[in-house]
Formats: sequence, C-alpha cells, structure tokens
Amino acid sequence: MNFGWDLTTDYGYDTALHEIGHAIGFSHEHQNPNSGIQWDEPAVIGYFSGHPNYWPEEQIRYNILRKLNANETDGSGWDKNSIMHYQFPKGLIVKPEEYRDSPLIPESGLSPEDIVEALHFYPGLDKNLPELRPWESHRIRIGAGEQIDFEIKPKYSREYTIETFGEMDTVMVLFEEINGENVYYDGDDDSGTSLNAKITARLMRGRGYILRIRLYYSKQKGQGALMMW
Ligand SMILES: [Zn+2]
Repeated sequence: MNFGWDLTTDYGYDTALHEIGHAIGFSHEHQNPNSGIQWDEPAVIGYFSGHPNYWPEEQIRYNILRKLNANETDGSGWDKNSIMHYQFPKGLIVKPEEYRDSPLIPESGLSPEDIVEALHFYPGLDKNLPELRPWESHRIRIGAGEQIDFEIKPKYSREYTIETFGEMDTVMVLFEEINGENVYYDGDDDSGTSLNAKITARLMRGRGYILRIRLYYSKQKGQGALMMW
C-alpha cells in the first residue's frame, strides 16, 4: 500500500485508516443497504466528476451510488461515523432530509462500531492456546468467518504436514514466534479449489509456532478436523 498524501493531517490520517480498512475486508459504509440513504444522483455525479476527484460516472456508481448486496454485509445498521464512510457536502443526499442543507462529515478516527467489527474479524491472540501435537486430531468447532489458533512446540526439527479434513473451506497460516512477535512463516488458502488447507513446512525444535485457521464455509458447524504429522 502506497499513500500518496500527507499523513500528518487529520484528513490524511483518516484516509489512510480508510484504505487499511479496505485492505482488511471492509466495504464502504455509505453503501450499506441498511443506511436508508437516498441519493440525488445527478448531484453526486456532478460533484465527484469535478475537482479534485474527476471520477468517471462508472467509478462514482461503483464507489458511492451502488448499494452493497445484503450477502456482502453482516446486516448491521448505518454507522455514519465509520472510517469507511465518505464525507459528503450538503445537497447530495435526499434522505435523511437533514443532509439536504448540511454536510455529512463523519467524526475523525475509528468509530466504536469500527473497532467492534475489526475485533470480530481479527480477534486478538489468546494467551492459553491449545497445543497441536503430531498425530492428535482436533475437532474444529468454529463458525464461518471465525478463526482458531493453536500453539506448536516441535520436539524434533523436521518437515511436518498440517492439514484440515471435512467438508469445509479453510485458510491456514503458520507464524513463527520471533522476539515476541508472530512472523508469517507459511500459508495455504485453497478456497475455490479443493476445500481443505494443507501446509508442509520444516519446523525447528526449540522454536515456537502459531497455527491460525479461518473458516470460510462449512456444511455444518463443527464438522471438520485438524491434524499434524
Ligand atoms: Zn474507500
């Protein structure tokens, strides 16, 4: 990600947070189908096709006027202070009526709901992780969009294979603990092809690893297993 603007202003900082929001999977809040926003379409197209954006109409429709599909959202209500919400000058919004005569300017920084949603998708690392040992099968009891972490403390330095089993679509990432930080070591995302994730990697005795599994989809909650050998 390359920021081509001054990050020391409020606007520059908020815009950087907004773009990071896209990078971790967030869509535009002003396109929330539950917002109730009714646009003055010619006014929106007129405004964003001019200075400083000069967007073509197609881009304005994609970034602003198009409502997200309900299945791209989690059904949450309108959060007009979300970092994922644009600023709009007065006169672009027909409803709610208050924005005909006054601009809609989200508060600076992350909103409380932004933080809740980010932590929902990216929960912090639990201190007491279950340990994944060779030849032990672990049942995966998580729902779609949720993740589960395991600790791996290899007794021998050798190549290990870690694989998920069952009718589910998983992404699996292995981190090595280096100086208190979890550094990406290897990953496998088989979404779209064969459903289960598999990593084969050389792990070293005396080092610590974290395995993270995220479930995209399973036919039935809890229907899956994990094994290392
Ligand atoms: Zn955006």
